Amino acid sequence: MYDLVIIGAGPAGLTAAVYARRAAKSVLVLEAKSYGGQIINTPDIENFPAAMHISGVEFAQRLYEQAKELGAQIVFEKAVELKIDGKEKTVVTNKAQYPCRAVILATGSENRKLGLADEDRLVGRGVSYCATCDGAFFRKKTVAVVGGGNTALEDALYLSDLCEKVYLIHRRGAFRGEEASAARLKARENVELLLNSRVTRLLSEKRLTGVEVTNTDGEVRVIPVNGLFVAVGRIPENQNFSSLIRLDEGGYILAGEDCRTNVPGVFAAGDNRTKAVRQLVTAASDGAVAATAAVQYINEQ
Ligand code: NAP
Repeated sequence: MYDLVIIGAGPAGLTAAVYARRAAKSVLVLEAKSYGGQIINTPDIENFPAAMHISGVEFAQRLYEQAKELGAQIVFEKAVELKIDGKEKTVVTNKAQYPCRAVILATGSENRKLGLADEDRLVGRGVSYCATCDGAFFRKKTVAVVGGGNTALEDALYLSDLCEKVYLIHRRGAFRGEEASAARLKARENVELLLNSRVTRLLSEKRLTGVEVTNTDGEVRVIPVNGLFVAVGRIPENQNFSSLIRLDEGGYILAGEDCRTNVPGVFAAGDNRTKAVRQLVTAASDGAVAATAAVQYINEQ
């Protein structure tokens, strides 16, 4: 029986492992894909305190080694179910069952993609899902943002401070995001709104060179851009636990800054919980908070 099973070896899960091991708890981390989570897609991290330039891959590698060196066991299996029997919890994977005293769900979330040809190939070559991470690479260039939620509006505002020109492409005539942000965008001279429009094709050589945009009247136009920021929502990876853990309407775990879920002894850390700022630094912060709460829970049993 482990003291703590952590599901997900991204920045939140691995930070939780570091904290729980320093509190001398036995820790198993389960990861379905590769360790590091989303951050491995970021070529250059510039906004993590005191780490001026580090690649996402190197960051993930260092955090993985830190957790291992402190004694966390990290196993590459997909957690498919969580069972609760009073104080005893069991995490079921595709290969085994792991009884434990406490669980941290650090499963993260995935970017919703547009589903266009070449989209995956062009990630890091002009296509990005994170303006705060990658915007600086497009200083004084022309970019487009897709989406009509708060993320798209805020990304477009952020990028309009850096870029020569920003197109905002949204499939409807009205924004889902806040009116105040939309009003600020409309006042920006270097922002052009393309409403009732979808990106229907990505144009590229080695890198993205432009996007084909089709409006609801069927009119097609090609816009040369250096970058395309896709902000069409995220998909939190909580589906396997939704029968026990309360989620909001977007599928995020209903857990506040204390990282506690509706089930005692089960905590949520990182991008899979309701929160306003989904960044590397807040994922790491959640890992510390959730692990500290889990250690306290275990000690009280
Ligand atoms: P969101 O609110 O779900 O908006 C997603 C947008 O993408 C919608 O406008 C949607 O269009 C569009 N979309 C979805 N699938 C698409 C597709 N396949 N092709 C083209 N467009 C597509 O997602 P979000 O903007 O990431 O925000 C997520 C949550 O975080 C929201 O609750 C948001 O308010 C919150 N958030 C808050 C802040 C803040 O408080 N400062 C900042 C960012 C995000 P439709 O509108 O037509 O559905």
